[in-house]
Amino acid sequence: VPVSRIRNFSIIAHIDHGKSTLADRLLQSTGTVEDRQMKEQFLDNMDLERERGITIKLQAARMNYTAKDGEQYVLNLIDTPGHVDFSYEVSRSLAACEGALLVVDASQGVEAQTLANVYLALENNLEIIPVLNKIDLPGAEPDRVKGEIEEIIGLDCSGAILASAKEGIGIDEILESIVHLVPPPQDTVSERLRALIFDSYYDSYRGVIVYFRVMDGTVKKGDRIRLMASGTEYEIDELGVLCPTQKQVNELHAGEVGYLAAAIKAVEDARVGDTITLAKAQAAQPLPGYTEAKPMVFCGMFPTDADQYPDLREALEKLKLNDAALHYEPETSSAMGFGFRCGFLGLLHMEIVQERLEREYDLDLIITAPSVVYRVITNKGEELYIDNPSHLPAPNEREKIEEPYVKVDMITPETYVGTLMELCQNRRGIFKDMKYLTQGRTTVTYELPLAEVVTDFFDQMKSRTRGYASMEYHLIGYQENPLVKLDIMINGDPVDALAMIVHRDKAYGVGRALTEKLKELIPRHQFKIPLQASIGSKVIASEQIPALRKDVLAKCYGGDISRKKKLLQKQAKGKKRMKSIGTVDVPQSAFMAVLRLD
Ligand code: GDP
Ligand code: MG
Repeated sequence: VPVSRIRNFSIIAHIDHGKSTLADRLLQSTGTVEDRQMKEQFLDNMDLERERGITIKLQAARMNYTAKDGEQYVLNLIDTPGHVDFSYEVSRSLAACEGALLVVDASQGVEAQTLANVYLALENNLEIIPVLNKIDLPGAEPDRVKGEIEEIIGLDCSGAILASAKEGIGIDEILESIVHLVPPPQDTVSERLRALIFDSYYDSYRGVIVYFRVMDGTVKKGDRIRLMASGTEYEIDELGVLCPTQKQVNELHAGEVGYLAAAIKAVEDARVGDTITLAKAQAAQPLPGYTEAKPMVFCGMFPTDADQYPDLREALEKLKLNDAALHYEPETSSAMGFGFRCGFLGLLHMEIVQERLEREYDLDLIITAPSVVYRVITNKGEELYIDNPSHLPAPNEREKIEEPYVKVDMITPETYVGTLMELCQNRRGIFKDMKYLTQGRTTVTYELPLAEVVTDFFDQMKSRTRGYASMEYHLIGYQENPLVKLDIMINGDPVDALAMIVHRDKAYGVGRALTEKLKELIPRHQFKIPLQASIGSKVIASEQIPALRKDVLAKCYGGDISRKKKLLQKQAKGKKRMKSIGTVDVPQSAFMAVLRLD
């Protein structure tokens, strides 16, 4: 196909506004996937994958479409991950397109993620086509939502498409709009090869499968390619397009989207955002904007059973093949033994990895509370980045500590503005902006320490607004604050895995609340267990877990053997999630207690 008849687009939407359903509808309606296959190939597969805990996504699909003008077009749909943690990848995949469908649920309206993704699309100069989805719902208010999009985003909605992905309404109109509104790629076939990697995954037979968009030049099967950021070279074994299953071709030229396999060993060697060029005829400059996605949140992962340490290492190695953003290194904790310090893009990323380790690799893990990365200047003038509170240099060894700040944008019904502002104030937020939108909806913007956001901020926001508010955040920089290290002692022993860094003004409150919470969470033992919180050598809070009375079982359950058995079984189950620290068994919940202080 000539470049003039290629259209590369993406779909951007807030979660649940109907992106996947619309993508399915487009595949069906262009005959890319047959109605019958649709069920078998996609939905069934997806259930299976879901059961294994793998997040499936349709990375890209090439559709042939005969437009009303009688011409044949190639439409490439490039998918984007839907969460703020992965906005770096979103940005890369949008850079591979000329246009985007902006899908907004007509019964809901513009949400924080809609907005964040629109800004990324605008930064990439994409043509944006507004689509109001779910117009079949009785609560749909397309006119109100159009007004919202115009007001908040400043996007003309006179031509917005009214659609129902579920009912198949508006699908033809969407396809025609893509053809007529999204500009074709620039014709740069004669230039040196530059292709943008927008996704990749590890396949145990073929190595890394790389998804890319050719921006300039031509790439052929058998070519020796060079990955410009990593500086490595490979020979292409397999080249193809996604229809949406892989179909081999011999060459791809500027404007086209495809995949390749070249015996690449780990996704890290072919990272999203890198530029592919030819080893023999290298492009002078890589494509713009390659920066590494840096982990923002760290935690310790320890096997409950020390024997599982090699299994944990192997599982992390395997996960890493497919997840270039996952960082890990061995960590030795005096309280917890051998484990790993792991870094993530955000909390969701952390939860996904944790879930996969437990589900796919059958590991029993103790995970410590998430920490952000602090910047410390020592009194020798060294600059340190500290991702583990127990490694913070002592007060007399450091000049200052800085913590990362984020800008948080929230969209909420007007009635909840007060409670959201209160939440932000409690979390050391700095008020930045508030704007009234249409019909009682408001955006509220704050700058907050990331540490205050990665605890239970999201859950608090949702519960305070009955689920109606949405949020987005991004890193804006570091700021100095009077921060101190809070140590926790259980039975007289400091537990490094429970140490944390808190604002001086909050230290006493946190120390008290945390010791109280630990008292609730740690089960009684045969002996008394003192719990203390301290700053340096100064104890600021203490509690005591009373000793278990030996006759508890006998007294409560008398001669009822079956009930007694049940109780013992329950305890045995609960034990799996315990870590012995000295002579005290500490449950997983205790390590996350700091996230649940009220
Ligand atoms: P995504 O998170 O943006 O990919 O959203 P999904 O495509 O998974 O859709 C979220 C939910 O909305 C699912 O339960 C869909 O069945 C439903 N949905 C999607 N499009 C429509 C629509 O046009 N009308 C109605 N009533 N429901 C829809
Ligand atoms: Mg989806």
